[in-house]
Amino acid sequence: MRLTCPLCGARDRREFTWVGAAALRARPAPGGDFVAWAHERENPAGPLDELWLHSAGCGALLCGTRDTVTHAAAPLTLAGGER
Ligand SMILES: [Zn+2]
Repeated sequence: MRLTCPLCGARDRREFTWVGAAALRARPAPGGDFVAWAHERENPAGPLDELWLHSAGCGALLCGTRDTVTHAAAPLTLAGGER
């Protein structure tokens, strides 16, 4: 599988670390349901918005949509957390 980093171009998936579903970015406010946010995840078959870290590349935190059945992935975009 290849993923396309907006800074480095198309790279092998092994250069990236999967961070999780993009829903992780919607952290609950203090006093909110932190346990549900941390442990209760959807696992859909089909398109899923995800976060990826280009850990063996530029170190950017990236987001994009990947089909969990076919692994077809749209080019990633910066998630605003690049190092
Ligand atoms: Zn990169």
